[in-house]
Amino acid sequence: MVKNKIEIPFNKPYIADKELIYIARAVMENNHTAGDGPFTKKCQTWLEEKLHCRKALLTHSCTAALEISAMLADIQPGDEIIMPSYTFASTANAFVLRGGMPVFIDIRPDTLNLDEALIEAAVTPRTRVILPVHYAGIPCEMDVIADIARRHQLFVIEDAAHGILCSYKGRPLGSIGHFGACSFHETKSMISGEGGALLINDEKYVERAEIIREKGTNRSQFIRKGLSQYTWVDVGSSYLPSDIIAAFLYAQMENVDQMIARRNAIYDVYWKQLEPLEEKGLIRLPTQRDDCFRNGHIFYVITGSLRERIDLASFLKDRGISAFFHYVPLHSSPAGKVYGRTCGTLEVTTAISNCLLRLPLYYAMTEEDVQAVVGAIMDFYRVR
Ligand SMILES: *Cc1c(COP(=O)(O)O)cnc(C)c1O
Repeated sequence: MVKNKIEIPFNKPYIADKELIYIARAVMENNHTAGDGPFTKKCQTWLEEKLHCRKALLTHSCTAALEISAMLADIQPGDEIIMPSYTFASTANAFVLRGGMPVFIDIRPDTLNLDEALIEAAVTPRTRVILPVHYAGIPCEMDVIADIARRHQLFVIEDAAHGILCSYKGRPLGSIGHFGACSFHETKSMISGEGGALLINDEKYVERAEIIREKGTNRSQFIRKGLSQYTWVDVGSSYLPSDIIAAFLYAQMENVDQMIARRNAIYDVYWKQLEPLEEKGLIRLPTQRDDCFRNGHIFYVITGSLRERIDLASFLKDRGISAFFHYVPLHSSPAGKVYGRTCGTLEVTTAISNCLLRLPLYYAMTEEDVQAVVGAIMDFYRVR
């Protein structure tokens, strides 16, 4: 069998321009390659200004930011965390590591975010956290979620891995709940290879977050307040990225607006040109919201069946176009069955997991690339 040469990959990581220059500066001029150096400070200030959070702390991943959140929420064995099943493993794992029990509820068929109307039925005396995941950077219904959390005294921890610079009614994602977690993994929009950030929106958690992130020591206060020594004061781990990583990330931050503008332009072309297929009832497209800024992180189509999704993906592959699907719902995954439980039927989750197909979308995509993808999808539905 001749292997198809993939001409339009699913993703090409965005490179701004000064990444290597800043890395050279971190190494040669700043002489600071450990964490919390000058570039880390620049990145944190950038996040605090752009996302209006009280404090931003760079981490080595979004997973790490979620793990710190679980410690800040003081998750104890048996505590329950209400979350969607349609998400990445880290959303659940960060809490399972503390002995927490993910309680999976279904998603909305329009935004693919956890269905806020199902949250209260899942609340028990052990519930500690509501964990909204802003899928594709489209916001969850945060006003409703905040109201439920207030009435039941729960933490709201946002998984904003897809949602850098997206907003909900003018409020940046990640800065609405108690804590928010960002990802700068290579597969995301603004990247540093591996990378993430914890956003803290309430002053009272900042000091403990710094301690947990610094191996459970009070090193940050030691530096800031000039204490005579620092020591082990709490649980914690090593969650800091090297300043080399922060240098790379800062170059991306400087160019993020142009990167997002390009992604959104591609997203708009997909949307406009595929809309006729949606009008004919052949596919479904992402939900547009006028009250929210989006970052064009993910564009997907929802096919009529699992069979159709498989056929469409292989039709695109024959044309040299790589399209991916995700997620295996956590409640049906091997670990999810052991460590979590469900509330309700999760039928929307299962259907979306079977029928969603993500299209290539990256900064360096040309107009011709986009037209090739659209043309192939049109052809697929024409011959059917
Ligand atoms: C990518 C992703 C994560 C994990 O991000 P890392 O930075 O790789 O740890 C968590 N949640 C969601 C929804 C993601 O897409």
